[in-house]
Amino acid sequence: MRLLVVGTGDAFSSERFGCSCVVEGPSGHVLVDCPDMIHAALRRASEASGWKVDARSMQDIIITHLHGDHCNGLESLGFHRWLLHRERGVPLPRLHCSHAVAARLWERLGPAMDQGGAARLDDYFTLHTLVPGASALIGGLQVECRETRHAVPTMALRFTLTGRTLAWSSDTPFDEGLVAWLERGAGLIVHETSPSRVHTPIEPLNALPDSIRGRMRLMHMPDGFDTACTDIPCLRQGEVIEI
Ligand SMILES: [Zn+2]
Repeated sequence: MRLLVVGTGDAFSSERFGCSCVVEGPSGHVLVDCPDMIHAALRRASEASGWKVDARSMQDIIITHLHGDHCNGLESLGFHRWLLHRERGVPLPRLHCSHAVAARLWERLGPAMDQGGAARLDDYFTLHTLVPGASALIGGLQVECRETRHAVPTMALRFTLTGRTLAWSSDTPFDEGLVAWLERGAGLIVHETSPSRVHTPIEPLNALPDSIRGRMRLMHMPDGFDTACTDIPCLRQGEVIEI
């Protein structure tokens, strides 16, 4: 399993794209979250890594929650894919999210995408719901999800292929139970950090045992984050990690 880092910034970053990655499974690429300027974000990651990824051919998209820094790119990606579907028969992307996100997704997108009432969500995306406690097969990867205690309904994720696991915290305050769920058998744990009530300050992550910190990388850092405050390395945009 390979991971391409697309964005590592927080919601207010002027340096980096919103947190996002592409996971390569045996049957395709899976985009995790869809931040602003998604076409540029994917292009930059592709150019930096030499790994060709493109919003035009992304088969599966997982949306962890409806904060804009994680989903604002859905409008431009959705319109682009709608056009490609109509003009060239390119399949619509599958969009995977929780029931809570699915229930309100069109409230978020509809005012910009309903084409005067003529279009609906399934004109742009094929919707699939992720259920905590159940495993879904996405891009040939086993995907599990768990609710976090963020400000809006949010799912953390685990991707597993042939005994190797990537864990992705999504947005969350520090939560020992979530860390235990993420780290179980994971070769790579990507955890957010931001100094806010609904996010995870660096201090509790620094206090985790070496056996967990040694497999952990950080995302969602604010601009100007002092990397000397922790021995947990930050993810870099365009970085490729084999798991
Ligand atoms: Zn958020």
